[in-house]
Amino acid sequence: MLQIQNFINGRFVPPAAGRYLNNIDPATGQVYGRIPDSDAADVALAVQAAQAAFPAWRARPAEQRGRLLVRIAELIEQNLERLAQAESQDNGKPVALARVVDIPRAASNFAFFGTGISHFASETHFQEGLALNYTVRHPLGVVGCISPWNLPLYLFTWKIAPALAAGNCVVAKPSEITPATAFLLGELCQEAGLPAGVLNIVHGTGPGAGQAIVEHPLVKAISFTGGTKTGEHIARTAAPMFKKLSLELGGKNPNVIFADCDLAAAVSTSVQSSFSNQGQICLCGSRIFIERPIYEQFKAAFLARVATLTVGDPQLDTTRQGALVSEAHLLKVQSYIDLAQQEGGTLLAGGQRVRPEGRCAWGFFLQPTVFEGLAPDCRTNREEIFGPVVTLTPFDTEAEALEWANGTDYGLSATIWTRDLDRAHRVAHQLHAGVVWINTWLLRDLRTPFGGMKNSGVGREGGLEALRFFTEAQNVCVKL
Ligand code: NAD
Repeated sequence: MLQIQNFINGRFVPPAAGRYLNNIDPATGQVYGRIPDSDAADVALAVQAAQAAFPAWRARPAEQRGRLLVRIAELIEQNLERLAQAESQDNGKPVALARVVDIPRAASNFAFFGTGISHFASETHFQEGLALNYTVRHPLGVVGCISPWNLPLYLFTWKIAPALAAGNCVVAKPSEITPATAFLLGELCQEAGLPAGVLNIVHGTGPGAGQAIVEHPLVKAISFTGGTKTGEHIARTAAPMFKKLSLELGGKNPNVIFADCDLAAAVSTSVQSSFSNQGQICLCGSRIFIERPIYEQFKAAFLARVATLTVGDPQLDTTRQGALVSEAHLLKVQSYIDLAQQEGGTLLAGGQRVRPEGRCAWGFFLQPTVFEGLAPDCRTNREEIFGPVVTLTPFDTEAEALEWANGTDYGLSATIWTRDLDRAHRVAHQLHAGVVWINTWLLRDLRTPFGGMKNSGVGREGGLEALRFFTEAQNVCVKL
């Protein structure tokens, strides 16, 4: 049994009330560990430790803070296999994916902000003969970082690294569904020599530990990634307390495929963007709009490739589709498969739960599922499913594709496939999405602003945007 503890003030400690939650391996459906069910008392201890550590941490030269973060990045790389195995067991994702995506990216997050903080310069504004204004960017103090289960260590570190680099102390909570790699990160921070209290990791549920972080008066900012409904609730709690808020929320992303595209590339990347991580990436393209002249050709090639995706034991290197993260989530995704049929969709592939032989027989596996024949404005095409379910829809004009692509309350990302340069830019600028990919998907440069429009979020992460979020600008005006 993996016994996870909170990481507070540089030490691993049990929850104050002694309560624990079960941790389930989604590939087997079995309980394999326990995690603290922390509450406001644990959060209060974590905030106290962070507050006490803050003066010394902010006073360290940025380069020294950065060096410690780079050291953590190196330790993540050295422990890649162990972390990838833990991520796979906790989340159900193929270990092969965790090895090349989740864990390397977690290391990159620390390395990127650990080095980036040395390049974070402030502005000056010179008023000829009158005054010199300069901006000082102070760390905020204690900040809260709350992350979801789909890319556990990847998204947890995407928040923590810039917060620490900018000189803040952190109280962080990973998802209670996938706590394992956050627990291991605490060990690596100890080994790296991160001073006690600079990073505190509290485990537990959203309404318990999460809510206590959001409500704590000394927590000056909340960086949250998760569902839109949770984001709304957090905003309602934090806004009257005048906390800074960064909200990275849900998506219902379109892939717009024009007839002049490189079809082979569009098909293979669309299969990836539909089903990577079992479709549980906020950036997955779940609505594929295809220009009518190539619709049948695209569909045939897409379905042929989907048929090759092996669903099964996440520990096997041959597995392309692991388990969904939990039974509750599997049931939610299955309810959308039922809904799509009720709404008149034609099932082209998948739709069924998979029961692999052997140790994974009770895991939460689902076939990659493809529908066509659904209206662009039906619920299946507007609501976030967050699983391996996509719809194919033909379109006739660019205007129609744009209207449908923009026809949801979400606006996180979008993908365009075309060889026409003018059209690529024209369409990109008209899409209501914070991130647009042209002839690619999930190609990330950590310097770029990342985040969503509409109900997909508020604020941007990444590069300087994250460092600005985790600091408070102060203008100093000197009369000349
Ligand atoms: P969730 O909103 O249920 O939970 C996210 C985190 O918030 C968890 O740690 C949870 O414990 C915590 N939480 C829940 N209630 C809380 C409360 N009242 N106060 C404080 N914390 C609370 O989301 P999830 O199911 O873990 O993740 C899936 C969602 O995340 C999807 O909607 C997906 O699109 C979204 N997501 C968005 C991005 C992005 O960058 N925009 C990235 C990944 C996932």
